[in-house]
Amino acid sequence: MAPSNVLRCCQRVVGWIPVIFITLVACWSYYAYVVELCIFTIQSIGEKVIYLVVFHLSFVMFVWSYWKTIFTPPTNPSKEFRLIKADKEQYDREERPEAQQEILRRAAKDLPIYTRTANGAIRYCDRCQVIKPDRCHHCSACDMCVLKMDHHCPWVNNCVGFSNYKYFMLFLAYSLLYCLFIAATVLQYFIKFWTGDLPDTHAKFHVLFLFFVAAMFFISLLSLFSYHCWLVSKNRSTIEAFRAPVFRNGPDKNGFSLGFTKNLKQVYGDQGKYWLLPIFTSLGDGCSYPTRLVSQDPEQPNSINHTEPAKNSADGQSLPPRPLSESQNRLLGGTDQHWIDEESDEESSKVSNQNAAISIDQESTKPST
Ligand SMILES: [Zn+2]
Ligand SMILES: [Zn+2]
Repeated sequence: MAPSNVLRCCQRVVGWIPVIFITLVACWSYYAYVVELCIFTIQSIGEKVIYLVVFHLSFVMFVWSYWKTIFTPPTNPSKEFRLIKADKEQYDREERPEAQQEILRRAAKDLPIYTRTANGAIRYCDRCQVIKPDRCHHCSACDMCVLKMDHHCPWVNNCVGFSNYKYFMLFLAYSLLYCLFIAATVLQYFIKFWTGDLPDTHAKFHVLFLFFVAAMFFISLLSLFSYHCWLVSKNRSTIEAFRAPVFRNGPDKNGFSLGFTKNLKQVYGDQGKYWLLPIFTSLGDGCSYPTRLVSQDPEQPNSINHTEPAKNSADGQSLPPRPLSESQNRLLGGTDQHWIDEESDEESSKVSNQNAAISIDQESTKPST
């Protein structure tokens, strides 16, 4: 086996360690709560039944959403975003970046893409050999272009993006609920064991530890969940929060924001009854996104209310959003212009927050002519 294959194989194995850790903690918490607390410690039958029913409900939802986040593969750009054979051959033959950009511009003419690199070039992934749809980024850990990539999450050993962002949000929400329920119901027994009101049995260790672990996870997950709730409300990915998407005439951090309710529906879907279930209901096809032509965010007061309707790929009729007009482009270009100067697409960027690591590979940065 070649050394690079051995390395990749090792990386794959190591990648599962955080998932195994979370799984072991979840299994132990199940044993500690059900057996040590409910069966051995709690005396009242009524209390046992209520605790066990609510516990199992939250446990099932937590495991279900975690499972879906881990095992839903990230989606790649559809085949329309690949160059046709003739263009591909021409692109490979061409050495001048300007000529390559011209080929890409011609190929992207009918594609629903409105974002560009910081230099105004068509975003192209040389590794996947694909024109990047809006909000798509190349993940170096997965070695593929991922639609609406949010971040590569080590805790689920998967890329969080268009295909599983809803599951990820539900996983955070149900983990919080699970930890909160455990901490709240264990607290009184924690105090009783601590003060010596309950005998020193082997349940004592489990119950004391259960409270600490639940409280610790609850506190650390709360900030991550709050941050992602804010991102959903703004229709921003973590990557876009760190680096505003660049539209034809400049970056606009609110370029995809459609207003609070529509932003929620983009992730959770049109039908409220499915919002709390880890079933795919996000709107769109992942390759094209409705754009708000200008910002109406309170942070940017001089804005005009003008939105594109949300599209659902389920009807197979999604049309590309209208291109930006010159006057609208000027308005867009007026915001956050400094991003162009500050950022450099030529460097691989690594962004991380508490529990999430993001790795984005370099984007095609050939200058436009
Ligand atoms: Zn790629
Ligand atoms: Zn990834």
